[in-house]
Amino acid sequence: MRFDTIIIGGGLSGLVSAIECARAGQKTAVVSAGQSALHFWSGSFELLGQAGGETVIDRPLDSLDTLPENHPYRRIGSERLRTLLSKVPGMLSDAGLKSAGSLDRNHLRLTPLGFLKPAWLTLGDYVAFEAGKPLPWKKVALVNIYSYLDFYPRFLAYGLEKRGVECKMAAVNIPDLDTLRKSTTEMRATNMSRFLTDSAVDRLAAEVNKVAKGMDAVIMPAVLGIYSDAPVECLRKGVDVPVWFVPTTPASVPGVRCQLSLRDLFIRLGGEFLPGDIVKGGEFEKNRLRRVYTVNLGDMPLEGDNFIISTGSFFGHGLIADIERIYEPVFGLDLNVKGGRTEWYRKDFYAPQPYMEYGVTTDKEFRPSRKGETIENLYATGALLAGFNALKEGSGAGITLATALHVASRITG
Ligand SMILES: Cc1cc2nc3c(=O)[nH]c(=O)nc-3n(C[C@H](O)[C@H](O)[C@H](O)COP(=O)(O)OP(=O)(O)OC[C@H]3O[C@@H](n4cnc5c(N)ncnc54)[C@H](O)[C@@H]3O)c2cc1C
Repeated sequence: MRFDTIIIGGGLSGLVSAIECARAGQKTAVVSAGQSALHFWSGSFELLGQAGGETVIDRPLDSLDTLPENHPYRRIGSERLRTLLSKVPGMLSDAGLKSAGSLDRNHLRLTPLGFLKPAWLTLGDYVAFEAGKPLPWKKVALVNIYSYLDFYPRFLAYGLEKRGVECKMAAVNIPDLDTLRKSTTEMRATNMSRFLTDSAVDRLAAEVNKVAKGMDAVIMPAVLGIYSDAPVECLRKGVDVPVWFVPTTPASVPGVRCQLSLRDLFIRLGGEFLPGDIVKGGEFEKNRLRRVYTVNLGDMPLEGDNFIISTGSFFGHGLIADIERIYEPVFGLDLNVKGGRTEWYRKDFYAPQPYMEYGVTTDKEFRPSRKGETIENLYATGALLAGFNALKEGSGAGITLATALHVASRITG
């Protein structure tokens, strides 16, 4: 099978570059092994939340010179970053995802543990506050689903009460969820969202209304709307006060919705999505990758003019660590790993960990190398790249989206 561009990895990075290539009329394929970081997603995309030891709120793109020179943002440059990232809300909207946020100012998202963290874009139904202003509510109801364990109203109440919001905690039930409740392992957000549709949402809204009286808002766990935001809209219509959502312990309902919506947009644009398959290697001629082989297709190669590797970091299995070495398993690409095992980490759990910055090294066009030789038609994007600590910087999705869009626009011209 022959394609213009073949993308290895179907997480946020792979899907975004795939959509751009398909939109430009390229015959595009995505090979996707399975679960991605999106399945753990908070509902917010971070751009840059920390720089030079400070929390960043205003003009995050003006803080880039505090980052190391080889940081992916620095290599793209702030002007081009702005152009690339300003496409994201439109792409999300084309996929059916409403988001709010600005490249000029971070807002604050409410974490499941009741902290406020800077973010760039947050899904429209999720709690987000304007930074530097008092919170917009005096009294909120934190409404859990009865016997659901992956939502922590006490932590949320602690965080909100510190900021002057009075919190009332309640749990509601509807008989539609009783089947799941027979086993505690079934009471998961993604499972509940499959039951919370149509008239079950009306029944839920009626129960929520009973505890919402006199409140400025209701905050609920993100357990509705795995395939679309229709159940969320329905619940919001049925409750007399505004309803907002907070992410839960994974698997994440907004994350699965985001993953499926982007995948569906790619397929609508004519893309070929190969789910549940793993690229196991490729064949090179001179410094060009000619074809890749997958587990499911066996001897039948996928041939392409260009390839993008977006297999993620350790979490996505884009990088593998064993007792002796860290390596990129598909092509054996060059990495920035320094030293032996004891240098990969610091014993202080809270210190920035060296391994977080490990990844594939590339030239300025994000083309990786093998044994020092750049591969002319292979590009690397997203969490697989070297040179940043997404956790410390609060930059994970921003880098993922920017590098995916940058590389796709280079390939499509
Ligand atoms: C648990 C977790 C939660 C996060 N939450 C947030 C958040 O809420 N907000 C935020 O801004 N950032 C978050 N991040 C940062 C995150 O790194 C980026 O936001 C981004 O989602 C990474 O996308 P990616 O596509 O580069 O990698 P991944 O999401 O890891 O996707 C890589 C994909 O490639 C597939 N793959 C791997 N090897 C192969 C192969 N050989 N063949 C085919 N497919 C393969 C994997 O199965 C996976 O589906 C989070 C990161 C993690 C690890």
